[in-house]
Amino acid sequence: MTAAPPPILTDAVVPRPQLSGTEPCATGEKEYFHDSYAVNQPAVKDALRACRRCPLAAECRIWALANPDLAPTGIYGASTPRQRKEDRRQLISRLGDGPAYERVLRRAYDANVAWRTQSDAR
Ligand code: SF4
Repeated sequence: MTAAPPPILTDAVVPRPQLSGTEPCATGEKEYFHDSYAVNQPAVKDALRACRRCPLAAECRIWALANPDLAPTGIYGASTPRQRKEDRRQLISRLGDGPAYERVLRRAYDANVAWRTQSDAR
């Protein structure tokens, strides 16, 4: 049995990427919410693989990193909750959990949006 997805919410500092409806998680072709996120489980592997092909993957992962309260579970940006927890721990150990942490995530998010937007325009 799989867990229900949380409601879609946004955050003011790093907003959730706007989905077009064609992303793998939006089409319902894979399951992104599980009771366990062991990466050797076929369903988890499938969802991680699909996420890696998603054009929003980088922004989605940064959003989930920046908003652990909005993404406590689920696969986002080809990451499991455990991977995000570890990424967050490492970032906070380098930057602290204050404004520098938020600034770095926001800059990374904006850089990915700019890069993707330019790529889409070509
Ligand atoms: S990267 Fe994010 S938007 Fe794309 S499929 Fe994965 S969860 Fe959905």
